[in-house]
Amino acid sequence: MPVSGREYSIFGGSTSCYLVEAGEERIFLDAGSGLIHAPEDLPNPPTILLSHLHLDHILGLGVYPRLLREGSVTKLLVPADEGARPLDVLNAVYSPPYWPLSLTAYRGELRLDRLSFPVEIGEARVDGMLGNHPGGCMAFRLTYRGKSLVYLTDYEPEPASFQALSRFAEGTDLLLYDGQYSVEQYASRQGFGHSATDHALTMIRQSGAKRMLLIHHDPGSTDKILLDRETRLGLENVRYAREGETIEL
Ligand SMILES: [Zn+2]
Ligand SMILES: [Zn+2]
Repeated sequence: MPVSGREYSIFGGSTSCYLVEAGEERIFLDAGSGLIHAPEDLPNPPTILLSHLHLDHILGLGVYPRLLREGSVTKLLVPADEGARPLDVLNAVYSPPYWPLSLTAYRGELRLDRLSFPVEIGEARVDGMLGNHPGGCMAFRLTYRGKSLVYLTDYEPEPASFQALSRFAEGTDLLLYDGQYSVEQYASRQGFGHSATDHALTMIRQSGAKRMLLIHHDPGSTDKILLDRETRLGLENVRYAREGETIEL
């Protein structure tokens, strides 16, 4: 859930949305409420990759600024089962009575397609692997000119996938990892589909990722809580993600 208020002024309160800039290419990872802040003027039509279809990851689509702009094009890659049309899957939510317009009724154009790997976007390449989450969630590895980033959100560890995903994230420059719970919180939230801080630390150690950002903060985690947690970690290469920050690889 998006949250607002002074107690969220450092880490932010939007739901999942990240913009990757790779040369002239622009790739959004998920379309949570943060998508409302997306820039409209981009060198090339951007591509939005959806990890899964939980509401917090698609909440921003209806207010995506480029949809209001005549002639603009955005590609949207949707994880959908064989046989299911990606547009139908999303328009199950983006249609009356839940929302006034379908996603293809705007002035700007959304070109929907089914997500299948690898995805080539200019010189950037995206590989994927399915993680453990209610209904499933795709992890992405983006590679561009020798640099890489792994987006591993909405993931609850279990042994087989944890090993596979730590190989998937091997040596990456930046690992964005599900940082929803503290170790204490996780004890009462097993099976909710998210990780605790100790899982994240094991993942960075096993994968050899150079830096890690803890993402997908629990809506109840205020700035104070996250700052305390970050200080206790005391690691230079592990931080909680801050809304609006830019990281260069
Ligand atoms: Zn989810
Ligand atoms: Zn989520």
